[in-house]
Amino acid sequence: MSNLPNLSHGRHTLAIPGPSVMPERVLQAMHRPAPNIYTGELVDLTYSLFPDLKVVAKTAGQVALYIGNGHAAWEASLANVLAPGDKVLIPGAAQFSLGWGVTAEKRGLVVEHLDFGRRAPIDPQAVEDALRADTDHKIKAVLVVQVDTASSAKSDLAAIRAAMDAAAHSALLIVDSIACLGCDDMQMDAWGVDILVTGSQKGLMVPPGMCFVFFNAKAAAARDKMERVSAYWDWKPRADPEMYYQISCGTAPTHHLYGLRVALDMIVHEEGLDNVLARHATLARALWAACDVWGQAGPLELNIADTAARSNAVTSLRIGAPHGARLRDWVTDQAGLTLGIGLGMATDEDPQSDGFFRIGHMGHVNAHMLMGTLGSIDAAFKALDVPHGAGALEAASAVCAGQ
Ligand SMILES: *Cc1c(COP(=O)(O)O)cnc(C)c1O
Repeated sequence: MSNLPNLSHGRHTLAIPGPSVMPERVLQAMHRPAPNIYTGELVDLTYSLFPDLKVVAKTAGQVALYIGNGHAAWEASLANVLAPGDKVLIPGAAQFSLGWGVTAEKRGLVVEHLDFGRRAPIDPQAVEDALRADTDHKIKAVLVVQVDTASSAKSDLAAIRAAMDAAAHSALLIVDSIACLGCDDMQMDAWGVDILVTGSQKGLMVPPGMCFVFFNAKAAAARDKMERVSAYWDWKPRADPEMYYQISCGTAPTHHLYGLRVALDMIVHEEGLDNVLARHATLARALWAACDVWGQAGPLELNIADTAARSNAVTSLRIGAPHGARLRDWVTDQAGLTLGIGLGMATDEDPQSDGFFRIGHMGHVNAHMLMGTLGSIDAAFKALDVPHGAGALEAASAVCAGQ
């Protein structure tokens, strides 16, 4: 150990759950002088983004483009259809459900959370029960985080829609797929999602700074009934390519649009969405196979036990304090790899969430990158004397080999 040279020099790998690794082609497309924003190439390019974004969300509805991050998308989704005093139901009380709830409360909405803990997805039956209890339909919307990036729990949106229908409730279904659009399947129309929000910097492989709000006809009608919608968040002009360059929307996110064009080319027109999703699913299975083996003889544990409730974009792992923090530090300092911190997992015994780490496997990630991440973690276990099962890399490579 004392003779070990530093092995971190070389291309650094970021495996946190957003921002994700950006393709060189996306970055190169953004490295250019500012374009004319009123006519010409950029306007045509922007029009071309709308249909491809809808392919990724599997919707025939509309999509509004904003400058902003995921928090902005949260704000936009609420601003168009909910007024102060309206009630929203948020099934989930992990980090990102709580965050969306804070955004809602600060807009004057009345928020009810259903708490399923930090290790489980949403229970659709609990949603149905809460909506049935709301006999006078005070709840105007159900806000669902598809994958909570802190717990890495993925909820079953089709089942949640079925629960809402079973309760014969009129609330809008608003979904945050910021962590996982383009990684986990999203069928906005088939699953009856009324409003869908996402950001540019995770599965869509573009730097943070753009966000997207998809909405269907029911949501558009709800927007039209609003007494007022704030100028910036109003989705109407932003969903109309003809209007997008009118003064009402302000300067377009010029360079992000160039980057997004290339990212959507890669996803929709080159690799193909089905293949992108299948790649994420296979790499996630390889990762979990490795984790299962490590956990057979040591403290490592997948935060989400049920494979159907795991995400193909991000995986949260429990290893006990202080191992999580030590492992993250070791792979950064000795292997050139940055892993995600535990988020919203603090307890009295572990106030800094030092017993957790997360692996982002979203977007521009291939087998070589994932195997490198796993190999570095395996080395960290050895270097830090953390007990772990042997053979994790073999298990992962077998999945990558199709065995
Ligand atoms: C990343 C993320 C957000 C927040 O996005 P920001 O760009 O950091 O504001 C919200 N929800 C989920 C599920 C996320 O993964």
